[in-house]
Amino acid sequence: MKFELPKLEYKYDSLEPVIDEQTMTIHHDKHHQAYTDKLNAALEKHPELKIKNAEEMLKNLNKIPEDIRTAVKNNGGGYVNHSFFWNILKKDVRLNGKIKNEIEKKFKSFDKFKEEFTSASIGLFGSGWCWLVINENRELEIITTANQDSPLSIGKIPVLVIDLWEHAYYLKYQNKRAEYISAFWDVVDWDKVNKNFVNAVK
Ligand code: MN
Repeated sequence: MKFELPKLEYKYDSLEPVIDEQTMTIHHDKHHQAYTDKLNAALEKHPELKIKNAEEMLKNLNKIPEDIRTAVKNNGGGYVNHSFFWNILKKDVRLNGKIKNEIEKKFKSFDKFKEEFTSASIGLFGSGWCWLVINENRELEIITTANQDSPLSIGKIPVLVIDLWEHAYYLKYQNKRAEYISAFWDVVDWDKVNKNFVNAVK
């Protein structure tokens, strides 16, 4: 199976000024492309592997041959995580739908949720991601993953995510990760996040 870099469904400058056009272009065209290429290169070593889709692959890393398992974890993770991330970004969408109620139920208020998500994001050491997921108990949970590790590999279903690798924000925010995280809320597509939530608890 050969994976292709998914096309971005909006223009590279659509998320300005929160995420600048240059960051978006390099992030998608270079970084995401590189994960895609390296994933394909790893899978080429095992043409016998039957893979339904990239998500299934990450859910079943133990079934991936050992000699390519790390490469698949890292590059398959990079491939899937970025596809998921692009998809939940859009300007000017208000928090709405079932996810709104669920966030307010679980975290007391949206502000409290933002606080917890932000402190988890700031607290992540090094490169990785901060997620809102549906966990094993079918409840919302905030988690971070290192590198390109996917929540799918530990039995959790992603609902919302922020990329915390420096490549995601350094050109515009330099070392100020907190400013990037605070601006991020203006480009969360809550319609998509709500859809992710509804599908995850179905
Ligand atoms: Mn990235």
